[in-house]
Amino acid sequence: MKCAYCGNEAKGTKEHIISCAILDLFPECYITFDNARHTSHESDPMVKDVCAVCNNQRISYIDSYAKDFIAQYFTKKYREDDLVEVEYDYVMIQKMLLKYAFNDMRSHKWDCSFFEQEIIHYLMNEEDNVPKDNVTVMCGVAINVSPVPDAMFGNLKLRWCKDPILYANSTIRNIDYNTGQVYLNDNIEIEKFEDLAVSYLFKFNSVQFLLMCWNKESDKIKQNNIVLECQYPYHLMKAEETKAVLPICTDESNYHHFEHIHVRWDGLFEVGLMRKYASGGKFVHKEEYEKEWVKEEQKIIKEHPRGKK
Ligand SMILES: [Zn+2]
Repeated sequence: MKCAYCGNEAKGTKEHIISCAILDLFPECYITFDNARHTSHESDPMVKDVCAVCNNQRISYIDSYAKDFIAQYFTKKYREDDLVEVEYDYVMIQKMLLKYAFNDMRSHKWDCSFFEQEIIHYLMNEEDNVPKDNVTVMCGVAINVSPVPDAMFGNLKLRWCKDPILYANSTIRNIDYNTGQVYLNDNIEIEKFEDLAVSYLFKFNSVQFLLMCWNKESDKIKQNNIVLECQYPYHLMKAEETKAVLPICTDESNYHHFEHIHVRWDGLFEVGLMRKYASGGKFVHKEEYEKEWVKEEQKIIKEHPRGKK
């Protein structure tokens, strides 16, 4: 086997697609749903084309950062009125998402030509810490603002997908406030970004990251970043920044359908508010269900302790 990182011939070792240390934070999510292969299983998502040296010595510093970052801020759930401020290292966030995307793409045998020498060097070397201008990262807090409990669609705290759908306009045409009727937009457009090479969306419990990788020679990156920053309810992470207050990036629909990224002005945000006010300001039944679910999770964790997998 040729190692995906160093290129040397070696025996392949099991590399977690999302680092094992992050999976360890959520032992209740013990089932892997593999939609691409139409299967589910109890082992962790893996790829087996990394040599032992790269896996254990060269790229593991990324996992340590990733685990600390997620553990510090996102193992807990947030409410709509919480202020979520994070301290972050932009280079490490870029590396973490690039690594996971690269792992996932290899596991599907997709075209990995974006991950050429320079990006591989960036990932393999902790001291290579000049952020990549052709990689954009956006970040937002995922909060279930819908009336539907989280677990109703499965225990889906950790999710990732290639090619998320970025909308260009609202999914709602208008709302009749007298009757509460919602009129859907029958002319929904998808935003096209020029020179986009790879895009991914990651959800780690209460945070979502959007990763956009642009062709290196592109002169559209600045323009694309402006569109992204203005159009979506995510924070555009920056190399010169160390702290950020993260916006809520989910509405009542795409909290559950996470691969759909709605525009900031999507009517769904308002539909959610209207629904909540109509229910007296809170979703009583959802809250009761979720209290019970927390107890259920504790049982699941006991029944499925995470060992070496
Ligand atoms: Zn290697």
